[in-house]
Amino acid sequence: MNAPARPEETRAALTARHADKAAFENNKLGKRLHRLVGQAIVDFNMIGEGDRVMVCMSGGKDSYAMLDILLTLRQRAPVSFEIIAVNLDQKQPNFPAEILPDYLSKLGVPFHIEEQDTYSIVKRLIPEGKTTCSLCSRLRRGILYRLADDLGATRIALGHHRDDILETVFLNMFYGGILKGMPPKLMSDDGKHIVIRPLAYVAEEDLARWAAIKQFPIIPCDLCGSQQNLKRNEVKAMMRDWDKRFPGRIDSMFRALSHVVPSHLMDPALHAFAGLEATGQPDPAGDIAFDDEPCATTGPGVEGVADIVQVVRLHKVS
Ligand code: SF4
Repeated sequence: MNAPARPEETRAALTARHADKAAFENNKLGKRLHRLVGQAIVDFNMIGEGDRVMVCMSGGKDSYAMLDILLTLRQRAPVSFEIIAVNLDQKQPNFPAEILPDYLSKLGVPFHIEEQDTYSIVKRLIPEGKTTCSLCSRLRRGILYRLADDLGATRIALGHHRDDILETVFLNMFYGGILKGMPPKLMSDDGKHIVIRPLAYVAEEDLARWAAIKQFPIIPCDLCGSQQNLKRNEVKAMMRDWDKRFPGRIDSMFRALSHVVPSHLMDPALHAFAGLEATGQPDPAGDIAFDDEPCATTGPGVEGVADIVQVVRLHKVS
C-alpha cells in the first residue's frame, strides 16, 4: 500500500495540475483567436498575395494582439504578404516613446514611428471641456492614409474587435439615428486605401486575456485626458450587463450584423417599397407579414410556432 502523500507533495501536485490546466486554457484561447482572425480574413478577402499590410499600433492590448496573431498566421498563410507596424506618436504628455520601438525591434518586425504633434493642434483648436476626439481622429486618419502611401502599404489594418463593432452600432442608433457599425473591410473616403479589421470576430475579453498571457507592454490609453469615451463606456457597461444576465445575447446581436433583411427594415433606399405591387404569384421564399417569433424558446418550438402561424393564416383566409 502506498504511503499517503506528504503535504508538500500534495501542494506540488496541485500546483502542477493548475499549471497544466492554465496551459490547456491558454492554448485553447490561442487556437480560437487564430481561427477567428483567419476566418474573418477569408470571409472578407482581407489580405491577398503580395499585400503589404500596415498594422496600426496604438500600444493598446488590441493592436498588440492583432500584430501578434497576424505574424503567426502569416507563417501558415497560403499567400505571402508583408507586415509593417506603424505607430503614430501624437506627442501626448508622458507618452512613453521608447516602449513600442523596443518591443518591435526585439520582435524583428519592420516598423515606422511617425511623430506628429496632433495633441497641441487639438488643444489649440478645441475649447477646454469640449470633446477633442473627432478632430483628433480626423487628423490621425489623414496621417495614416499619407503614411500608407509613403510606405507602399496596400492594406491598413486596424485593431477594432467584435465589441467595438457592436458598441458602434448602438452608439449610432442611440445618438445618430442611423443603423451603422464598423465594417471589417472598407475603402477609405479618399478612395485610395483598403482598411481592414482582422479582429472583427474576436471578443474583447479574449484579447484582454491574450494580452495578459503574452505580457504585452501596454501603453495607457488615457494620456490625452479626453472625456470623450463616456458614451462608449456607457454602452460598454450596458453590453456587459446584458452578457451577464442573458448569456449568448452579444453573440446573437453580432450574428445579426451579417444577416440583414432590408425588406423588413424601413430604408426605401435599400428596398423598393414604393414600387411594390402584388404579382399574384406565390413565392415560397417571399416575405411574410408576421414573422415567427425568434425568441420562442418555450412552448411550441420554432417549427411549432410556424405551424400555428400557418393555421391562423389559413383560418383567416377561409
Ligand atoms: S481619446 Fe484622445 S487620443 Fe483618442 S481620439 Fe480622443 S482625443 Fe484622440
